[in-house]
Amino acid sequence: MVKEIKVYLIQMDLVSPFEISTGVIERRQTVIVRVGEDGVVGWGEAPADSKPIYSYETAEISFYIIKEFLAEHAISSEGPEDFLERVRFVRGHQMAKAGVEMALWDLEAKKKGIPLWKLLGGTKEEIDSGVSVGIQSTLENLLKVVDSYLKKGYKRIKLKIKPGWDYEIVKAVREEYPDIMLQVDANAAYRLNDWYHLRKLDEFNLLMLEQPLDYDDLVNHSILAKMIRTPICLDESIKKPEDAYKAYRLGSCSIINIKPARVGGLINTKRIHDFCDSVGMPVWIGGLLETGIGRGHQVAAATLPNVRFPNDISASDRYYEKDIVEPPWSLTSRSTIVAPRKPGIGVEVMEDRLEKHALREFSL
Ligand code: MG
Repeated sequence: MVKEIKVYLIQMDLVSPFEISTGVIERRQTVIVRVGEDGVVGWGEAPADSKPIYSYETAEISFYIIKEFLAEHAISSEGPEDFLERVRFVRGHQMAKAGVEMALWDLEAKKKGIPLWKLLGGTKEEIDSGVSVGIQSTLENLLKVVDSYLKKGYKRIKLKIKPGWDYEIVKAVREEYPDIMLQVDANAAYRLNDWYHLRKLDEFNLLMLEQPLDYDDLVNHSILAKMIRTPICLDESIKKPEDAYKAYRLGSCSIINIKPARVGGLINTKRIHDFCDSVGMPVWIGGLLETGIGRGHQVAAATLPNVRFPNDISASDRYYEKDIVEPPWSLTSRSTIVAPRKPGIGVEVMEDRLEKHALREFSL
């Protein structure tokens, strides 16, 4: 049984502000979970932000939910499956649950002395990595930023789009780089009425168009999917395994971006992954500007066999000058991240750095 749990609400500066269609993130708040048992320590992260612009969950709320409703069940649980079962009474709050669940997974892998990705059933020794490029002030800046990431070795570029920052900028990037793997993400910025405009993106041979319509809308996505050729990938709409099933049955998407934190952790990640695999729908792993802790869990998830597109799992320096883990996550010359050999998430958490960023903490 788990003996102790410690939870931190931390704040870290991003190397540059990250803008998506719903707002700008200048600084990152996130919740870090540490569980301990007989000297073995597991780490997880609930990467909700300070603002509810991606999900209704925020770091403050996740911290509160963990403290008031989840921590005691982590302490008494036998492991991640048992924990998830015990907290079924808590509706939603997938990120809060994920933060604790992932810490329990890391702990379990370390107790067994094996890398987390192997414990999960991963099969890939290294994972393909792409980078997500936020909305910039000018097209000129965007081209500069894209160029800098390509020079760093990223082979797949994802552009954040919104009305007024879409067709023209994608056209310019595509003309400059006719052969790169390119995709776009709208973070729910469009309405079904925009279908004709969105169809114009078909000419750019994009890997996918991510979450064009409302975050909760599976029905209109299924209509849009019949009107455009670019494959639709869902992100925000898939919050639990049942959503993946519904999206498949409705034909709302042909690809799913699984963010382990958004779906409540690694058990649900695997459930969605396995379901999609069984119906021939590819998935990939997305991110929420995680620190090196959450990134470790993303890397583990990305080693699963039906992950068939490059992931939004960049090196630590994409977001943070100094990550709270050692070694920081880094990119190979093949635009990949190597799955670690060490037990658990495979990186060391620098607790002194973590403490420096902490706004609040509690333990049980
Ligand atoms: Mg997305």
